[in-house]
Amino acid sequence: MKSTAVSKLTVPADRKGPRWWGVPPQRAGILAFGAHPDDVEIHAGGTLAKYARMGRAVVVVDATEGELATNGSPVERRRECARASRLLGLAARANLGFPDGGLGQDEDLVPRIVDLLRQLRPRVVLASTTSTRHPDHAALGNAVREALFFMALPRYRTAHAAAPRPEAFYQYLEVSEVAPTLLVDVSATYSLKCRAIASYTSQFAGGHGRKRTFINSGFLELLQDRNRRFGLLAGVRHAEPFLADHPPLVDILAAKTPSSHSSKGKS
Ligand SMILES: [Zn+2]
Repeated sequence: MKSTAVSKLTVPADRKGPRWWGVPPQRAGILAFGAHPDDVEIHAGGTLAKYARMGRAVVVVDATEGELATNGSPVERRRECARASRLLGLAARANLGFPDGGLGQDEDLVPRIVDLLRQLRPRVVLASTTSTRHPDHAALGNAVREALFFMALPRYRTAHAAAPRPEAFYQYLEVSEVAPTLLVDVSATYSLKCRAIASYTSQFAGGHGRKRTFINSGFLELLQDRNRRFGLLAGVRHAEPFLADHPPLVDILAAKTPSSHSSKGKS
């Protein structure tokens, strides 16, 4: 049987550490991972802003600088990312500096995520879905799931000691047909989410000699329709969809479902 014991530090000491924006809190309420700066804004920005407004320490970790994007440069994107992070009310944000493309082949990705999870001991973890056409998004979702397992094993060595696993892990769903298992009401923070996304002018603004891409020609309208459609299902203005690895345990008298809305007043 293969042993999970690792005799030396799993992350080589010569690999650069994360580049931080803001000061990482001692403990994160929510820790959200994205493959590229702007991924979390697009798919979970309303949720992150909602909990940041409630005073929770919300931290984002981007794996790459998105240098393969058709438009914009990493320098532009860093500036845009800082503006978006301020709008969302993030406590801190890290960029791991992995090369864009080929995240799935980088053997340092899982141990680096394990170390961050141990450092920040989040209550809830969000990451990109593993059911997506973008290989880096799927690779990151898988790496986070793996890291959530290894973070609690004392013999899996990184700079920080083993720590208990978070209470929940949710994948944020992209524009796909995967059915969510939970919806978050983001009506109150939806305009903040839109402003945070709009901060990435190099990606979403179009014009100014930029090349036409999927995300700068109609994508934001599609996203808005999607958040509106899930909102409609939940009886609120806007909702963001997530997928839980395990069915969430709920109080059936407190949980609101589409059928409870449709039968309002008939109980
Ligand atoms: Zn992306």
